[in-house]
Amino acid sequence: MHRPARPSRRDHATGARRRASLASLAAAALVATGLVAPAASATTPAAPTPVPGPEVVVDHESFPYESPRSDVRSPLRALADTSVHALHVVLLDPGWADGTGKPSGGWITDAQATALTDEVHDYWVDQSDGAVSTTVASLTRFRYPGARCATVDDILDIWNRAGASRYGTNWIESETAGPAQREHFVVLAPYRGSDLGETTCAGTLGLGSVPPTASTSHGGIVFGLYGGRTAAQLSDGAHTLAHELGHNLGLQHAGTVWCDSNRPDPNLTRFPSDCYNYAYVDSYDVMGTALAPNVGVPALSSPGRTRLGVHKDHLTSPGYGTRTVRLSPLGSATGTQAISVVDPVSRSRYYVEFRQSSAPWPGHAVDLTSQGLPLRFGDGVRVVRLAPADSADAFKNEQVLLPQGTPSGRTSFLPAGRSFTTATGALTLTASAVGTGAAPVADVRVVVRSAPPVTLTASKSTQTYRSSSVATLRATLGAVDGTIPAGTITFKEGTTRLGAVKVPTSGTSAGKVSLALPRTLGAGKHSFKAVFTPADPNVALRTVSGATSVTVSPARSTVALSVSPTRVSTGTSAKATVKVSVAGVTNPTGNTSVYVGSTRIKTVKLTAAHRGTFTVSLPRYATTGTRSVKAVYAGSSANVARATSAVVRLTVV
Ligand SMILES: [Zn+2]
Repeated sequence: MHRPARPSRRDHATGARRRASLASLAAAALVATGLVAPAASATTPAAPTPVPGPEVVVDHESFPYESPRSDVRSPLRALADTSVHALHVVLLDPGWADGTGKPSGGWITDAQATALTDEVHDYWVDQSDGAVSTTVASLTRFRYPGARCATVDDILDIWNRAGASRYGTNWIESETAGPAQREHFVVLAPYRGSDLGETTCAGTLGLGSVPPTASTSHGGIVFGLYGGRTAAQLSDGAHTLAHELGHNLGLQHAGTVWCDSNRPDPNLTRFPSDCYNYAYVDSYDVMGTALAPNVGVPALSSPGRTRLGVHKDHLTSPGYGTRTVRLSPLGSATGTQAISVVDPVSRSRYYVEFRQSSAPWPGHAVDLTSQGLPLRFGDGVRVVRLAPADSADAFKNEQVLLPQGTPSGRTSFLPAGRSFTTATGALTLTASAVGTGAAPVADVRVVVRSAPPVTLTASKSTQTYRSSSVATLRATLGAVDGTIPAGTITFKEGTTRLGAVKVPTSGTSAGKVSLALPRTLGAGKHSFKAVFTPADPNVALRTVSGATSVTVSPARSTVALSVSPTRVSTGTSAKATVKVSVAGVTNPTGNTSVYVGSTRIKTVKLTAAHRGTFTVSLPRYATTGTRSVKAVYAGSSANVARATSAVVRLTVV
């Protein structure tokens, strides 16, 4: 558990922060494994080849280092009262030279390092409402000529050597040594050259350990690039260090999902085939990527704050109904900062926040569509989710932004007037007003619909065609939160509508409706469902019962036969009179035949005009004897049963 497991499959880790240059993003989409070293000259990235899930990321591999002295061996509840995180900062002198041959040692002054840690301190105090503050417990220099940082193993080696005096030789492999709770061992290395990290460390800006749970008490290890020959190389370090400390606290990356179709809310347990996870690509979050130098440290997202338990002014939706919530930009000093709403059907939680690039910790508006990525980041109302624990395509609690709109006009936020509805349809979020300017607010209309259950039974499982004794379908609409929503229940067989009944919402029959099946229902097995349609589509969802079946048996028929006379002389004819009766049918139809012995004498096709009866003359017989006469009614379609009369004896003398 405490081993710094060597990352496999891929040689850089979650916790790694790399400059996600557009070139590297595009290249990452094309390269399944290995470091993607963005070439400085790659100004025209190839169109990304969509690869589902984590393959489209710059860095994401799990790096489960957990200091043996950190939380695992001491319950969080038993912590001391301090919430100050101790940073042991080591300034690495790797002996690198820049393009002019000037060695890097001394590029980072103590004052610069202090300015960095001060900014990161201010950042985390602000974002955590004081729950996470930092202090520099030590600031030392470590000379390691020829240090390399191209791979995670290289960086582990730097950590191991730089921390030997503090934690002992080979502490990185030790079961007992390493940073304690709220202790962070931070190695800062200068940039090698004049670029901003695209060649130094093969593009890795930072690396940090990620414990399996989020907590403000975790410690960890951090590597970051900071300082060099340009001002940007100094200013950019705050984002890197703030980000890696976020990893040390247990936060995963903030990214964006995107679907080829108009699907706004994909299944995060297993992504649909047309959806991709652009993990780490969110320019409005500290746990996202930096898409440009020197754009400041963006605020920590609402789900990130919630996971750390440091969310103030966060409103959890109180359940069903429609309400409008006014949001201040995330990171504001006052006002409701975010809301979270649970979809009552899927039980998934959605975080809603208003982001403004004018906030103290600004996001970075950027349109990546011209660079070959289908993402546009800008100020506005954002809908964010966390990947579930069983996700096959994202890390547990990996944060994803849900972009909105059609593929060609998609944005990472809801502009004023645009709505987002969850996959179940139970939750709709509308940015009803989005302000700009000095003190903007956004109004978000939240509609949470209930999904009242419908049950369906039948009073009996069989009935007979045309019989007046029919089965009755009984539907019951269940209450949600003690309320039965208004609406109608439609009884259906397949797409055939049998009838619709308004649902009583109060009284002893509240929620109960019934429908007698028609007598004319044809013979056979019928399967019915009851469909609830709400009177107000903002109150409840359309819901459907399970199926209930009723089997209709054919109507019973009888055939009466009389022969007159029943005793005739040879050469003389008798008459046979047939009367067909069908229960529930006044004038039965269908073929009826008269037989003498096995010889069919005549078939009459009964019509309504026959009124069920007819008379035929039997043959004249030349020989004496007794003959058997019978009548057979063939029935009518499948709905009326066949019947045979009793045999009548005709005696010829
Ligand atoms: Zn990272």
